[in-house]
Amino acid sequence: MKVAIVGGGISGFVSALKINGDITIYESNSEPLKKLSVTGNGRCNFLNDDMNLDHYHSESNIKDYIQDDIKDTVLDFINELEIAYKIKNGYYYPLSNKATTIKNVLIYEAHKKNVNILLNEKVHNIEKLGNEFIINGKDKYDKVIISSGLGSYPQIGASTDGIKFASNMKHEIVPILPSLVPLTTEQYDWDGIRSDAKISIFVDGNKIHTEEGEIQLTSYGISGICVFNVSRYASIALANKQDVYVCINFVPSISNIYTYLNNTKNTINIVLKRMINDKLANIIMSNIDVPRNKTFSELTEDEKVILINELTNFKLYVTGTMNYNQSQVTRGGVSLTNVDSNFESKIVPGLYFTGEVLDVDGDCGGYNIAFAIYSAIKASRGINND
Ligand SMILES: Cc1cc2nc3c(=O)[nH]c(=O)nc-3n(C[C@H](O)[C@H](O)[C@H](O)COP(=O)(O)OP(=O)(O)OC[C@H]3O[C@@H](n4cnc5c(N)ncnc54)[C@H](O)[C@@H]3O)c2cc1C
Repeated sequence: MKVAIVGGGISGFVSALKINGDITIYESNSEPLKKLSVTGNGRCNFLNDDMNLDHYHSESNIKDYIQDDIKDTVLDFINELEIAYKIKNGYYYPLSNKATTIKNVLIYEAHKKNVNILLNEKVHNIEKLGNEFIINGKDKYDKVIISSGLGSYPQIGASTDGIKFASNMKHEIVPILPSLVPLTTEQYDWDGIRSDAKISIFVDGNKIHTEEGEIQLTSYGISGICVFNVSRYASIALANKQDVYVCINFVPSISNIYTYLNNTKNTINIVLKRMINDKLANIIMSNIDVPRNKTFSELTEDEKVILINELTNFKLYVTGTMNYNQSQVTRGGVSLTNVDSNFESKIVPGLYFTGEVLDVDGDCGGYNIAFAIYSAIKASRGINND
């Protein structure tokens, strides 16, 4: 059986190692697995201890496509390759702390299995004639897997070709948008400040999602993992021309802020600068009409409420997202309704889709690579008839 894999990323390589047959990978870059090398700040966070399916998003019912065996499936694969790993705060990384360890193992194993890896070989066209697939008008295959990813990080070769091929072959495409991406907001002079935060996103006044973690305040808006994890909601809502804002609690670890402030003896000006970054304290105080040279207990009840609200419910209008150059994953893609549970097309038998090209996006924390591996293993089982 001759199988073509379009895209030499993580998902494409996993399929190549798992399928029994004569395998060819087409990779448009001059080297494979370029994106994998930059994941997790070069460390590749490939899985998470908490693989609750709520960490995955799609227009379809994700539970029809991802089962609870995702964690074991990914770990079995990593163990088969004898890649030593470690778990830090629930995040899985190679023990070497280097994404290139996984990259090198995948390339080594693919060579050992005689996988034909074609570099600088961009796929422009996929057709099916009878039972045969024809790639770029000349190369013939029995099966094709499209694992060409989507648009995030075009600076290292990411493309949206996969959805072009899919839509040419009559598949439904869920509109794509940048996700796991910094947000642009109304501007404050706070570039460089980092703070603990609990951030809630509101769309048309309704609270949609809350995340907690470190927030980075930047010249254009906000960033950090907790921001990435709310960004998909902002992307979708802004594309629908809805009103989007976030409310930020800058002191999430203080459970009763009223009691905390009530027990302080210094003026508000001093107290705030002992709780949060000085510059942020100044911004908060200049945003509200509360005398900063009084102690908290000297404030009126209304002033206390205003101060607490500004500290724990800082409202910030979201104007947009940064672009694909800064987004770690793309929301949308080939609709899951067009594939079966092994990610084989229901429209074009013998055609499979794996990884990010599908309408599945995961939270930050190893979910996207885990899905790329998992979907490739399931597609391989389908092709091998396991
Ligand atoms: C900076 C950054 C950090 C990230 N960190 C993490 C992380 O720590 N954990 C995590 O889970 N996820 C992370 N992600 C997301 C993760 O990298 C992707 O979800 C994952 O790589 C998707 O795998 P894939 O195989 O589907 O696609 P890709 O890895 O994108 O591979 C697709 C391949 O197809 C090739 N290609 C595209 N079009 C064509 C064509 N027409 N012909 C031939 N080849 C083509 C591309 O060059 C590419 O090599 C990160 C992403 C970025 C950008």
